[in-house]
Amino acid sequence: MAAKRARMVVANWKMFGNLALCRESLPLLAKAADVSVELVVCPPAPYLGEVGRLANRSGVHYGAQDVAEVTHGARTGEWSADMLAELGCRYAIVGHSERRDRHRECNQTVAVKAAMCIAAGVIPIVCVGETMEDRESGKTEVVLAEQLKAILQRMQKKAVFVLAYEPVWAIGTGLAATPEMAQDVHAFLRHQLALFVPAWGDSVTILYGGSVKADNAASLFAMPDIDGGLIGGASLNVLDLLSIYRSA
Ligand code: PGA
Repeated sequence: MAAKRARMVVANWKMFGNLALCRESLPLLAKAADVSVELVVCPPAPYLGEVGRLANRSGVHYGAQDVAEVTHGARTGEWSADMLAELGCRYAIVGHSERRDRHRECNQTVAVKAAMCIAAGVIPIVCVGETMEDRESGKTEVVLAEQLKAILQRMQKKAVFVLAYEPVWAIGTGLAATPEMAQDVHAFLRHQLALFVPAWGDSVTILYGGSVKADNAASLFAMPDIDGGLIGGASLNVLDLLSIYRSA
């Protein structure tokens, strides 16, 4: 029997939103949040305190969009996993393709960031995904296996983490993977997970991200190996986010 995995919908606001969005959406999200599917908001870091205050004692969790790869130091503009833990963050996204691309984060860096989170008691949401060029040249599985290997070989067997499959070509483009395409990749990722620790194949939550909207969420989330979504653009509209959440 398949293990019961956590189902989740994670809002990645990226560098959008403001205090008004926090104050408008959190009460509505708090009302809707149900124990059967986790609802997580990842606002820009300056709003984490406010989101934490508003989420207090509701079922809504929150997290950061990135974290430093060291515990402390002369790192202007960065923050550590311990700081996130102190703020009550349950999650941190690591290895988002926008960080890999714009900030030149390599697989190794992403792996260290994930390890930092785990050491601090913050659950990393580790993003992997291929570019269109990788896909068209038949390299999707090779690229994903490489991204995953770097991360998994640093993880202890008992580590708790979430994986997010985000094909780079689907992010912010309106061109989501079809449910079948995404399912194929999720099944592949489960197989890879199981090569490291057999139980992970069934137990790790794997989210799909990339142009998830209110009208395609249900068909993606209906796939057996897709446990929810990492939502960018559509998460900035609270009604869309709620509709996506209800589909999970
Ligand atoms: P999108 O972004 O939903 O706007 O495509 C997803 C993400 O980047 O996490």
